Amino acid sequence: MDKPKKEPILLNSQNQNHRLCLNCGFPNRQSDTHCLYCQSSLVEETGFIPWLRQTYYILRWRWQLKQKRENLKNPSRAGFWRHLGFFILGVLLSAVGIYFFTHSITQSSFSNALVAVLFLLYGGYTIKTLFTKK
Ligand SMILES: [Zn+2]
Repeated sequence: MDKPKKEPILLNSQNQNHRLCLNCGFPNRQSDTHCLYCQSSLVEETGFIPWLRQTYYILRWRWQLKQKRENLKNPSRAGFWRHLGFFILGVLLSAVGIYFFTHSITQSSFSNALVAVLFLLYGGYTIKTLFTKK
């Protein structure tokens, strides 16, 4: 009995039995003439530019797989940092709004009050989207 491999065969792009798609980087079987993923032709090209293209797609494909695996591992963490970023942005915008608002009262400036309202609205909206999203 063979031990089960840690990674599915698709993730193992170093395996030379695969023919990488030059369009999307999908590792296809050597016998395939068209990519299983994007249907583009897998006819071999030689030269520097195709080699460069292929290297680029291999790297991009690996990077995408890595991202996918990291998102699978902890999807909540990525969401947490995005939420935190939005929250800080909302608080900052509101703070700027309050700053302009106090200035507009002390200087009785209408334009400052207008800017303040805009900042407060935008800040409030940014924070609100955090709590309305699932
Ligand atoms: Zn493809």
